[in-house]
Amino acid sequence: MARVALVTGGMGGLGEAVCIKLAALGYQVVTTYSPGNTKAENWLAAMKELGHNFHAYPCDVADYDSAQECVAKIEKEVGPIDVLVNNAGITRDMTFKKMDKTNWDAVMRTNLDSVFNMTKPICDGMVERGWGRIINISSVNGQKGAFGQTNYSAAKAGMHGFTKALALEVARKAVTVNTISPGYIGTKMVTAIPQEVLDSKIIPQIPMARLGKPEEVAGLVAYLASDEAAFVTGANIAINGGQHMY
Ligand code: NDP
Repeated sequence: MARVALVTGGMGGLGEAVCIKLAALGYQVVTTYSPGNTKAENWLAAMKELGHNFHAYPCDVADYDSAQECVAKIEKEVGPIDVLVNNAGITRDMTFKKMDKTNWDAVMRTNLDSVFNMTKPICDGMVERGWGRIINISSVNGQKGAFGQTNYSAAKAGMHGFTKALALEVARKAVTVNTISPGYIGTKMVTAIPQEVLDSKIIPQIPMARLGKPEEVAGLVAYLASDEAAFVTGANIAINGGQHMY
């Protein structure tokens, strides 16, 4: 039977590429979308035209109860989740001087609390079945910090702390937990940055002199989800065109 992969925020730029890649590899792909997302039906229809029959469930990943309900429904209707890609995320950039509690909380809840909220109802089942993959999409800015992103950098760095601790707890049960830290990838999160800022400040930091492609990150997700990656756990894999090395 096909393995079930759940990709949070699968209708976003990076998530969509991950969904398509995993589907091409034979996974049964399930995605979540924000309860307020009015374009979900259109996205599903467009994907269907491309030959992908994705399952999609509304879920506010920042809300614990919403995540529990969503996972229970997916496991009942589709089956146990073998691969969890914690991909949903937001930015609310501003200098620390201007950072208010609302924008701090929104980013922490959506990027970091969501990892707890989604992993909590899924991890025990993986352990019981003796196989599982948890892949957390962090960011280069969680590794090196970024001006105007105290909230985002803290949340993304926190994700890898979670990865390392949980990887230790579940390693013996053949469940791996890894972090991917993409650099600047050409999705709407990045293309929303004014072109002159991209050209003058961001691209010059990238030795490859270009943005990454969502498909390049999707390929790494596919590897970490595979049987071949069984010995990779607790890792934080950079995919950033050489922007940050350590
Ligand atoms: P997008 O903005 O294109 O997609 C983000 C996705 O997250 C959307 O599908 C959105 O769903 C979902 N989402 C946001 N808030 C919630 C919520 N409360 N509940 C459920 N879903 C939610 O961004 P990307 O595809 O670029 O980013 C994906 C991940 O990759 C993020 O975690 C981001 O931080 C990370 N990343 C991206 C980089 C880049 O350069 N693009 C670089 C490094 C990391 P909906 O539209 O339904 O609200």
